[in-house]
Amino acid sequence: MNQRKALVQRWRKVCDALSPSHTSLLAVSKYTSDDAVQILADAGQADFAESKPQSLRDRATTFPLLRWHFIGHLQKNKAKYVGRYAAMWHSLCDMDTALAVAKHVQNRVLPVLIQVNISGESQKQGVQPEGVAGLYEALQSVPSLEVIGLMGMASRDGDVQAAFARLRALRDDMQQKHGKVRELCMGMSGDWKIAVQEGATMVRLGSTLFAEYKPENVKT
Ligand SMILES: *Cc1c(COP(=O)(O)O)cnc(C)c1O
Repeated sequence: MNQRKALVQRWRKVCDALSPSHTSLLAVSKYTSDDAVQILADAGQADFAESKPQSLRDRATTFPLLRWHFIGHLQKNKAKYVGRYAAMWHSLCDMDTALAVAKHVQNRVLPVLIQVNISGESQKQGVQPEGVAGLYEALQSVPSLEVIGLMGMASRDGDVQAAFARLRALRDDMQQKHGKVRELCMGMSGDWKIAVQEGATMVRLGSTLFAEYKPENVKT
């Protein structure tokens, strides 16, 4: 079977697995070629994600009809790329960077997720769980950003299920207080099935979709 067919087939299998829970798929394209993005776009995938601000800009410029999500670490001097090009920003974790992004959001409201550190590792990105409510409150003064949910990453060697369950509990609590905080973006190639069981509304998949895709083998 050629590589193009195999890629579409892997994508279909994932979509089928996500369909009973209505979980959305973000195709994380950071390791893959424009070619592979086009193949999935043709198959019907509309939401893609990048973790570097310049790659977000490049991909959003190349594929303006797709929705580009930003999921990575952001420094303030690159905030303009997220403000201009992101359809959704998943990795908001501090007010300074949020204000820097907001300056570049024009004539629209950018949906954002607060990234929570659920791994317990201090060097990992994200707000500590006890800081989420305060950051949410502070963000109410920024009209161009709208918090619609939470994002988190489990640590590979910790208790993945417990970490996802904690993030879900935090989302439930926020949603009860502020109805529109409903998205729960968690789960990557190694742990997405657990994330779906724990109630993820979006998963971010890169290698499991694209890893075996070798553009030089594509027969067109
Ligand atoms: C790269 C990346 C992913 C996708 O990782 P895979 O394990 O390749 O699926 C998901 N989330 C974030 C934040 C990433 O940087």
